[in-house]
Amino acid sequence: MTALHSSDSPTPVFAAEVAERVREVRDRIDAARARGGHGQVVTLVAVTKTHGVEAVEAAWAAGVHDVGENRVQEAEAKRAALPHVPVRWHLIGHVQRNKARSAVTFDLVHGLDSPRLADALDEAARAAGRVTDVLVQVNVSGEASKFGVDIAAMAAFADLLRAREALRVRGVMTMAPFDADEGTLRRVFAGARACGETLRAAGHRADVLSMGMSGDFEVAIEEGATHVRLGTLLFGAREAA
Ligand SMILES: *Cc1c(COP(=O)(O)O)cnc(C)c1O
Repeated sequence: MTALHSSDSPTPVFAAEVAERVREVRDRIDAARARGGHGQVVTLVAVTKTHGVEAVEAAWAAGVHDVGENRVQEAEAKRAALPHVPVRWHLIGHVQRNKARSAVTFDLVHGLDSPRLADALDEAARAAGRVTDVLVQVNVSGEASKFGVDIAAMAAFADLLRAREALRVRGVMTMAPFDADEGTLRRVFAGARACGETLRAAGHRADVLSMGMSGDFEVAIEEGATHVRLGTLLFGAREAA
């Protein structure tokens, strides 16, 4: 795949290429939904990290209303530059507690991965007088390198979150191991889906399953994903950050 180079404003060629990729991806999403049979609505989150604001503008122009960034500072700069682009901003990466004040201003925080972060986000949301939508990140594969709550700790975490009233627990986010085979992908994604059931059993709304990236989103949708987070497929390879 050719990399799409960022320029200061979205050139017509860049915008047209993104629009074409969005069309192709939506076809693949629809086909995967049909194969999976879960009947869910799938939201495409365009991951614009490392790309310039023109990537957000091109996504919006292509009809994508959800944008994901994994770093608070980079996201803030883009949001400030694009007050006229009314996308929903998703914070998809690991959140440091000292960034909680900014994190709670996002439309959906995907990386709630510890009780301490839950406390920091809850406190920040209360201070701002808002309720913030969050996803519990689950580490299904148990990889030490991954952030996320272990499956075994999920029920207790779900209980604890009931008292964090400034957080609305909208569901689960997970990342599969890089280069996993299909059987592993299915096991990881089905495990995340089961964590959603654990959250609902504790009384949370938990209607969101954020899983699937450029290399594995079709399997994720077949396993029930409601949100896929795609960067490379839409915008080309990222330059090293
Ligand atoms: C970068 C990133 C993505 C997008 O990855 P691609 O493989 O480029 O589609 C998705 N989710 C998270 C959490 C990311 O950090």
